[in-house]
Amino acid sequence: MSKKNIRRIPITTPITLRRRMLKHYMGIPGFTWIVHWLPPSTLYVSVPSPPRCPVTEPACPAFLLPAPGPNPRMTSSSHYDAIVVGSGISGGWAAKELTERGLKVLLLERGKNIEHIKDYVNALHAPWQVPHRGRDPVALKNAHPVLKRDYVLSELNTDWWADEAASPYIEKKPFDWFRGYHVGGRSLMWGRQSYRWSDLDFEANAREGIAVDWPIRYADLAPWYDHVERFAGISGSKEGLPHLPDGQFMPPMELNVVEKHVAARIKAAFNDTRRLIIGRVANITQPLSNRVNCQYRNKCWLGCPFGAYFSTQSSTLPAAVATGNLTLRPFSIVTRVLYDKDAKRARGVEVLDAETNQTFEFTSKIVFVCASAFNSAWLLMNSATDVWPGGLGSSSGELGHNVMDHHFRAGASGQVDGFDDRTSFGRRPTGYYIPRFRNTGADRRDYLRSFGYQGHADRSGWQRGIAELGIGADFKESLRAPGGWSIGMTGFGETLPYHDNRISLDHSVKDKWGLPVLAMDCEIRDNEHKMRLDMKNDAAEMLAAAGVKNVRATDDGYTLGRGIHEMGPARMGRDPKTSVLNGHNQVWDAPNVFVTDGACMTSSACVNPSLTYMALTARAAEFAVAELKRRNL
Ligand SMILES: Cc1cc2nc3c(=O)[nH]c(=O)nc-3n(C[C@H](O)[C@H](O)[C@H](O)COP(=O)(O)OP(=O)(O)OC[C@H]3O[C@@H](n4cnc5c(N)ncnc54)[C@H](O)[C@@H]3O)c2cc1C
Ligand code: SF4
Repeated sequence: MSKKNIRRIPITTPITLRRRMLKHYMGIPGFTWIVHWLPPSTLYVSVPSPPRCPVTEPACPAFLLPAPGPNPRMTSSSHYDAIVVGSGISGGWAAKELTERGLKVLLLERGKNIEHIKDYVNALHAPWQVPHRGRDPVALKNAHPVLKRDYVLSELNTDWWADEAASPYIEKKPFDWFRGYHVGGRSLMWGRQSYRWSDLDFEANAREGIAVDWPIRYADLAPWYDHVERFAGISGSKEGLPHLPDGQFMPPMELNVVEKHVAARIKAAFNDTRRLIIGRVANITQPLSNRVNCQYRNKCWLGCPFGAYFSTQSSTLPAAVATGNLTLRPFSIVTRVLYDKDAKRARGVEVLDAETNQTFEFTSKIVFVCASAFNSAWLLMNSATDVWPGGLGSSSGELGHNVMDHHFRAGASGQVDGFDDRTSFGRRPTGYYIPRFRNTGADRRDYLRSFGYQGHADRSGWQRGIAELGIGADFKESLRAPGGWSIGMTGFGETLPYHDNRISLDHSVKDKWGLPVLAMDCEIRDNEHKMRLDMKNDAAEMLAAAGVKNVRATDDGYTLGRGIHEMGPARMGRDPKTSVLNGHNQVWDAPNVFVTDGACMTSSACVNPSLTYMALTARAAEFAVAELKRRNL
């Protein structure tokens, strides 16, 4: 055993931290006790040489990372307790919760494997170290006609987006679909904004007679929000707002000087009915388990060598692997959930190997469908049988309907004077958030539901000189100092669940593997358009009230899907005649099939949804295991 593999735990370490460190070491495959308490006061333990962060290895034991997950390419049929389809945010949670409860789980992922740290190839690259300095060349844009519609296209992580030529879709009406097909799914690229829903959201459909009622309320989900927040690590401030419940937060990141100034002015101007707070974000501000706290690099979309933001790779996958109960199979496109007519249950899934084109069947007692909202709906629809010709879960006629997203890109911006002697340090990977205030409390508008704002303030950099076409030493010197402060915000608005906002299978167009593709037929309507006027005008009003100069109110337009928060095509409900899933995310027509991603959402609220998928998934997993034990599945 080499000396560098020895870790010391001084007796001065607080007992809780000592326990945590030991628990962590014991979770590392190959861990052995070699020495006990040695004089004068240190416990020595031995760990195998694990992969390390390529940047630096601080003294923090959290830099010892668990071994990457297994990656077998099985070719024969096998039986498992549970199959999880998709390894993104929802699938990662399903795999963790089910394996930790003792189930043997097969995690099927349609794309390639991406190993934590090792495969974050551009995480440490500066713009000058990549061929086009981080700009998007024409060939890249041509190869990604959908991605290029928005900010997400970048040569730094192109490999993490679905191949659009291999996996096309039909736009009956314009629809932006930004997908990640690989282990981790979009948990690697997400913006990490994490907010709880409240009963204002869960009760809205019933109160207003829209669509159907949610079968759950905030109290059903609150303990599961606690559970997932503690494990994922969400930093944020406690605000005591009933419509944006507080959670189990790590210490918040800090608003910068201009944001604090604007927050104080807004609070005073609107009598504390509008509040500017730091964004609640799944970046840890303290070490957590085997993860190191955020280093303020704001390069999260390239993968984090510190494991400082929540992703499948940094969090749920290592936990599932550590149980010894997980089998991960990449390149496995699940094409059908196999339905047993006699048992009225699923018996497993059919898988198409994305590399070899071979087809396999895997069987299991339960199936968790977590392939992302639209792909889960695609899988259910493609699982049609003579019993359910419209697809598994289609008996209500709601499968594929009620599609939602968050509409955004309406807001305001301006310049802030008086802070040119102040700056901020580091690259904070979150902005500020203004929780909903419309149709909240006594406020009433001519539309339903509400919106919140996301934004940030910062100083301009040397790039401000590009437009000047300047030249010479003085010009360059002038760009060495930061420019003026500006601030901006965009609203994120709730979309109503319209029955005829629909996705369906189109068998006339096939993907690279000969599978039918999705056709999108969805749009926003009057309610959303009216809301956008407030999103724009309220933002301008708040900035003006805060003394911001040259305020510009804008609506840059929005296409459904661009919010990257697809929801709804297999909604939960109280009645099998009007919903696809029950209150525990079970498909009414096949109770051993659980759908826990965005497909299950009955309404969309106005806050980012992924934390709610995590909580719903963990809740459903506990229920599924309990039902298995009761022999109900
Ligand atoms: C740039 C960006 C910013 C975002 N910001 C935020 C944010 O700030 N806050 C927030 O809450 N959300 C945000 N989101 C949305 C968030 O990423 C998604 O809500 C979340 O990832 C959904 O989790 P999921 O598990 O349902 O799907 P995904 O994470 O997309 O994972 C689905 C997985 O299933 C796999 N799969 C699909 N079909 C099959 C099949 N047939 N067989 C096998 N595997 C399959 C896919 O390859 C993928 O790995 C953002 C997304 C993006 C892209
Ligand atoms: S900002 Fe924090 S979470 Fe994001 S890549 Fe850097 S260290 Fe990791």
